[in-house]
Amino acid sequence: MQRIEIDGVRVLHLPGARRTTMALVFGVGVRDETFATREVTHLVEHLVMGTLPKSNLQRNGMTTVDSTHFHATGRPAAVAGFIEGVCTGLRELSLARADAEIGVLQAEDCSGVGGFVESMFAQRYGLSGLGVAYPGGPGPQYLSDDTITAHARRWFVAENAVLVCHGELPEGLRLDLPRGPRPVHDAVAAREQHGAAWGKSWAAGVGLMVTSTGPWDPALRVALDVVRERVQDVARTERGLSYSSGIVTQDVDRGRREIVLAVDAREGQEGAVATILWEQWRALCQAGPSPDELAHVVEGTQQELEDADEDDLLLGNLIDAAVSELLGLVHTSNTDIQVAYAGVTVDMVRDAARAVWASALLQVPEWSEFAGLPGLDRWRACGWSSDVPSGRTLRPSALVRVLPGAAKKRRFVLADDGVGHVDEDGDVHFVPWAALDSVYRQEPARDGAGKVLDGGGLVVIGRNACMFRIDQDSFGSKATATAAAHVQSKVPAERWAHVRPSLATAAS
Ligand SMILES: [Zn+2]
Repeated sequence: MQRIEIDGVRVLHLPGARRTTMALVFGVGVRDETFATREVTHLVEHLVMGTLPKSNLQRNGMTTVDSTHFHATGRPAAVAGFIEGVCTGLRELSLARADAEIGVLQAEDCSGVGGFVESMFAQRYGLSGLGVAYPGGPGPQYLSDDTITAHARRWFVAENAVLVCHGELPEGLRLDLPRGPRPVHDAVAAREQHGAAWGKSWAAGVGLMVTSTGPWDPALRVALDVVRERVQDVARTERGLSYSSGIVTQDVDRGRREIVLAVDAREGQEGAVATILWEQWRALCQAGPSPDELAHVVEGTQQELEDADEDDLLLGNLIDAAVSELLGLVHTSNTDIQVAYAGVTVDMVRDAARAVWASALLQVPEWSEFAGLPGLDRWRACGWSSDVPSGRTLRPSALVRVLPGAAKKRRFVLADDGVGHVDEDGDVHFVPWAALDSVYRQEPARDGAGKVLDGGGLVVIGRNACMFRIDQDSFGSKATATAAAHVQSKVPAERWAHVRPSLATAAS
């Protein structure tokens, strides 16, 4: 692999492929968004792709949790033309098509991209960093021109790009991207964990997440592979409880990564699957794998690499190297992985698992009856508390108070340092001003005949994953207005989210 630089952009070049593939990779993804700016990276990618002329080239744009890619495969000159077109699109970013592309995003409905793995990130990071990838966000119609432009100018610069080229690199290729300081990712704090814990989420499935620090450790990955095999054997083969499982490793920064083992579970059996998963993990931490289990996992990994398409592997490796370069990670090549796996011993697997014991988080769906296991703390997905904050308390309207049901127990608390909600169960959700992501004013929703279906209200979103709504139907219009005035007096105007003026009519 050759490293060169073109117009200030780092280039990783590996000759030898029959057709040329190039990928222009930027070190920005969903984790660099907030709840309020969710999908802005994807929108920038769409705006750029939309400027390119029609072509027969095999090409695409892609936004992931941590990076954004523009890639094409074909004849070298045509691929170079595509990459140069992307650079021009970014240099001359036009918002003329923003409303149209927002419509495309809404139609694609990528808002709900958050799957099981992302739901576990949200346990650890709340609605910030990797955790932002779980909820859908308010929708791209809330992205203002300023937000879109600022995001593009901050992240889509030469200093935050790496070009990958597999195959012939045409002479004279220009990478004339906007210049800017190399962007720094906002610091995101993981929520404190004091010991192995279990929690609930609205995502379907069961999973175990551990956090590893220090250099990449193949023994820890093997540990999770062994647990996965055991869970499959017990849960699927013997008891027919689960169908499939997978492991995802996500680097957070240099020396820190989250590893998630996700297991599908039949409805109603999530608790049983979680119990099996936890028992197998605990047993592995105690006694380690058997030599046969270790050999099976190592062989499986070697075979997977040997059976994969050579060009795919090389290109995947190059793109991995580019992302590592952009995020400041240590790149581990496929060859490194093979060598590292071959050196793993039974004791190394046991010790690696034990080292992350206190970071283990077991997750079951909200609707599961699972109620914990000995040795596991209860984990809360948000800034939950049992103490009601002091402040002005708003109660449901008189009508709600006389109706049967638990809704009458709800309270809305306007405190000096934040805003809180006591829900039907008496659980307290509090958003301190410093953790406020955004506030939304919801207009009443009407049916075709103008009949009010929902009186609207005020929605508060916290980066600590507390989110709640003071709805006019329950609290009345006066209380809603009081709450809005309180929030308005305490937080900067930019925390108030608004639909783009050009789309406001359509949205209501
Ligand atoms: Zn909460």
